[in-house]
Amino acid sequence: MTHEKVIAYIKKCLEEGKMAEAIDSAKVTIVPISKEELKVYIHKYLEKGWISKAVKGSKAAGIELTEKVLKEYVNRYLDEGRIYSAIEASKTFSIQLPIDKLVIIGRDCLLKGNLSSGLEAYGLIKETPPEQELMICGNRCLCEGQLSHGREAYRLANKSPPVEELIICGNKCFNVGWTTPGLEAYELAKRSPAKEMLRACAEICLIGKNIDEARKALVAAQKIDDTTGAEHIEIREISLEELNATNDLEGSWRCLVPRACEDCDNEREFKERFFILSRCPARTEEEEWLDRTMKEQYGVENYSVGVFRDNRGLIDSAVCSECGSGNIVFDS
Ligand SMILES: [Zn+2]
Repeated sequence: MTHEKVIAYIKKCLEEGKMAEAIDSAKVTIVPISKEELKVYIHKYLEKGWISKAVKGSKAAGIELTEKVLKEYVNRYLDEGRIYSAIEASKTFSIQLPIDKLVIIGRDCLLKGNLSSGLEAYGLIKETPPEQELMICGNRCLCEGQLSHGREAYRLANKSPPVEELIICGNKCFNVGWTTPGLEAYELAKRSPAKEMLRACAEICLIGKNIDEARKALVAAQKIDDTTGAEHIEIREISLEELNATNDLEGSWRCLVPRACEDCDNEREFKERFFILSRCPARTEEEEWLDRTMKEQYGVENYSVGVFRDNRGLIDSAVCSECGSGNIVFDS
């Protein structure tokens, strides 16, 4: 090995926290490392929270870490919410963690959505985190797309995650190519994601060479395609004459009668339009779809839906002949 290579190797060992190895190599190759330099590295390890590397290094270098210095590091870990480093250091150096600080840190971690650290801090002082803090934590986690932490936080608070938050979580997951938790979030919310979003998610997965997740997203998108195709609702406008003449409809639709205009109290004259639905909308999304389609395609904003025995539907839309309002109350 050339001199430069030796120096580079020693530096690499030091950077990686292998101080004993660096010191040994230095001895063999007669490359000097100053105590000051070693000390700087030990502090670097401590800053990074590499407790055991700092301990081993200080032993190998014959540099003593005073209790004062170590306590300062523990406090710093706590102040920065690095609870695991604080715990490891406190165990390694037998330093008591300050209870008052742990209470603040536990709360702080939870409010920031850092569930495990928060629970760890509360665990150390043997207290149960308040429900409110857990719920805030759950909300933060879900809004960041951290489904399992969010669910866990809500579970500990004895609450179920709100549907809106689950959907935000699902969307967040899909946006970064996390198909599995995204689908799970939507399933928990009992909703189905938009297929466009799933396809976009699949693309992100493919860019990240995450083939399995991409496939999962595409399969889910395909499933949505299939079901919307199979369940598609057809709307057909039908005249009153045609409706009266149709034999295959039972008479129940006749009960659907416009009674009064809510805007002018007219109870007699209405312009009616009728539409036959191949089946009645079953889900909220389908109802929303129907509302939208009726408005966009037929200019109908107010209507009432009657159901036939075979689950076909009849839309009766009425407009007041007096004032033109569509706010009509139906008898049914
Ligand atoms: Zn009217």
